Amino acid sequence: MASERQKFPETVLEIDLTALGHNYNYLTSKLKPETMLMGVVKAFGYGSDANAVAKELVQLGVDYFAVAYTPEGVALRDAGIETPILVLHPQPNNFETLIDRCLEPAIYSTRIFKAFVAIAEEKAQKNYPVHIKFNTGLNRLGFGENDVAWIHDALSETSSIKVRSIFSHLAASEDLNERDFTLQQITQFKKISEELIKKLNYRPFLHQSNTSAIINYPEAQFDLVRTGIGLYGYGNSPEEDNELRPVAKLTSVISQIHFIKPNESVGYNRSHIAKEHEKMATIPIGHADGISRQLGNNRGAVIIHGQKAPIIGNVCMDMIMVNITDIACEEGDMVTIIGENQSASTLALSMNSISYELLTAISQRVKRVVCRK
Ligand SMILES: *Cc1c(COP(=O)(O)O)cnc(C)c1O
Repeated sequence: MASERQKFPETVLEIDLTALGHNYNYLTSKLKPETMLMGVVKAFGYGSDANAVAKELVQLGVDYFAVAYTPEGVALRDAGIETPILVLHPQPNNFETLIDRCLEPAIYSTRIFKAFVAIAEEKAQKNYPVHIKFNTGLNRLGFGENDVAWIHDALSETSSIKVRSIFSHLAASEDLNERDFTLQQITQFKKISEELIKKLNYRPFLHQSNTSAIINYPEAQFDLVRTGIGLYGYGNSPEEDNELRPVAKLTSVISQIHFIKPNESVGYNRSHIAKEHEKMATIPIGHADGISRQLGNNRGAVIIHGQKAPIIGNVCMDMIMVNITDIACEEGDMVTIIGENQSASTLALSMNSISYELLTAISQRVKRVVCRK
């Protein structure tokens, strides 16, 4: 049992760079040799440690990075990352900083185009690299097919920017029931991008795939793929998950054990009432750390000595209480929230969610420890 004593006597998120390398190699093995890989490191590297992940990906040979917002790109530059960085959803108030830090904006509407060109011209830029985004059915961000002529005309009126890539995003690449829809998105992207390329006298690179598309739609590889969740060890199906290794492991420790009698309650609002004699443990992780209240009241569980300990009562801001009536354990023992016996996808299911939400919710209060296993 000594080995199950907590290595770190506190709540820790371990980031395994060896697992990251495995996932990177698995994903690149699915690509044509000439296809580039863009590592998506938005939202603190899907809740892990964006700087550590990005530095490792540079060593592994990543071609590009993507973040959602400008400050995320600035943080990577501050950490010494020199690889090109695409900012997927930049806001005009950050355009000056974006240019100062050599970040590359996605241009997704006429409003954003005009706003960016105004700043690029003001800052005397020539051929500043931008990425034109088209909406092919997700209906989230992007120009429409009818904007091609406008984009071309607007580009010919300025020398401040140059299109480095043209891209789009798939809505349901993980869902094989939506195969027809996805194929339609791929066809439409080909058509729109060819239309724009015909009007330019150079060829930007093209990209449309996220992680699940790498696996399900090799025909949508184009020149580059953007992969996020796969790098962190999760796919969107059990088959994909089997090939990948989770990078993040979330563990904690038993702070205190209580023995409670029938009819005693546990936690705020007394939402758990013991039916019999129960043994329970208090764990120093709560909703402020990313453990949603949705996981309370027996919906989620943690793992102690390989056994499931359901979360009882309401999740508090800084702690949870779990039922350990049938588990031999002591104060100070290790608790796994996300790890070998419980993946982020499995735990996320308990709150009707997906690995993406659970991982990115792990708050900055949780200590990160980078390791190689
Ligand atoms: C987040 C994001 C990705 C990465 O998607 P995964 O499913 O995590 O691989 C790719 N492209 C865009 C536009 C995104 O917003």
